[in-house]
Amino acid sequence: MTERYDVAIVGGGAIGSSLARALTLKKPQLKVALLEKEKSIAYHASGRNSGVVHSGFHPKPGSLKAKLCVEGNSMIREYARMRNVPIKQVGTLVVARNEDEIGVLSNLKERAEANRVPGVMILDAQEMKKLEPNVQGSAALHSPTGCIIDSRALVQSVAEDAVRKGAKLLLGCELLTLKERIEGVTLTTTKGELSSRIVLNCAGLYADTIAHMLGVGRQYAIIPFRGEYYQTTAEKANVISSMIYPPPDPELPFLGIHFTKTMHGSVIVGPNAVLAGGREAYDTFQFNLKEFFSTISEPGFLKLVTDAYFLRVAVKQLRTSLSKSAFVKEARRLVPSLREADLVKGFSGIRAQLVDDDGNLVDDFVIEYTDHSVHILNAVSPGLTCSLAFGEYLVELLTQKGYIIS
Ligand SMILES: Cc1cc2nc3c(=O)[nH]c(=O)nc-3n(C[C@H](O)[C@H](O)[C@H](O)COP(=O)(O)OP(=O)(O)OC[C@H]3O[C@@H](n4cnc5c(N)ncnc54)[C@H](O)[C@@H]3O)c2cc1C
Repeated sequence: MTERYDVAIVGGGAIGSSLARALTLKKPQLKVALLEKEKSIAYHASGRNSGVVHSGFHPKPGSLKAKLCVEGNSMIREYARMRNVPIKQVGTLVVARNEDEIGVLSNLKERAEANRVPGVMILDAQEMKKLEPNVQGSAALHSPTGCIIDSRALVQSVAEDAVRKGAKLLLGCELLTLKERIEGVTLTTTKGELSSRIVLNCAGLYADTIAHMLGVGRQYAIIPFRGEYYQTTAEKANVISSMIYPPPDPELPFLGIHFTKTMHGSVIVGPNAVLAGGREAYDTFQFNLKEFFSTISEPGFLKLVTDAYFLRVAVKQLRTSLSKSAFVKEARRLVPSLREADLVKGFSGIRAQLVDDDGNLVDDFVIEYTDHSVHILNAVSPGLTCSLAFGEYLVELLTQKGYIIS
């Protein structure tokens, strides 16, 4: 018999789990299912990231990302303390490596003020050295509310909350097809058929594919950009104690190769940003030919790679993927004492970056709707930071729009 739900959420990452939690807390009368194709929660981006709870000085003021990042930062800090999720407030430094880059710090400080990020200051070189003696630069932006967190533990805990409040977690359950009917949606999955009044698509790297099944978001495609990390050896585990970023490139949604202290005591360096050979192709030479050819034949992709600036950056990034010395050279611009022998290859994660048909890398989150479905596209960084706030925001929004009846 077909199991019936009020709400079926596809994707057990940070966004889907937070949405399930917010729904079960705020609308306990609803029958909620959380479908995840893997055998565990947070298997993809939500468990393969820098583990940073961003403070919110980077997103464009007025964007949904800016609002949810700042709210999400304080919500996660409070949640982690309440639920014993490993978290540490270490602060963030964005380092101007030369005089020319100091202007970017002032722009970020203005954004911090517009986004109402507390405590952000610009430090001179000496003040910066007091915090991070191994970092070199002319000045730095310091944001004290940046934290590091065990991202997998966070998402696991959030999903457990939802289950405790009545959500049904269906692991190893891959959504194959969707059919929208007058009264709801029929979902065909690897575990049989379900029906639901509404479907909430939080499928990360496959969110566009699922939206396209119902004919929305066709002007967008996800281009998977892999981010590869190195990790410092045990002797260099204290080379930094917080988070050290280069100034962001205003043309791109990716933060440059940076240093992050982890909750496990090590330091990760990265990620770079290289086109992946498939949506889940975590290794350098891994290819999913069907997905790869589908990506490179997207109209937006073709326009993107013919942009001279993007192409130059892409080649530089590819070099950091193929050559350890190119990667280390980039990292040494922040921490000059680092040697190749101090780094070992680490994990990688893949960004579900949305590109529109004109070849623009989309910056903000995108939400698409049909009568019985809602699709969260472009849940890229700082999606982990935004997740708890995003869950609550969506419940509010969907109630206002009449998808959820109070
Ligand atoms: C390298 C990297 C570093 C990052 N660093 C940070 C950071 O430090 N701080 C920060 O805030 N953000 C960071 N981010 C961004 C953050 O990780 C993501 O925004 C966030 O994890 C997105 O969550 P999600 O739930 O949308 O996606 P995911 O975690 O990818 O979850 C989607 C889930 O949907 C499932 N799924 C897909 N298709 C189906 C299907 N057909 N049926 C059933 N299930 C399906 C997948 O298996 C997956 O588990 C980083 C991202 C990357 C890639």
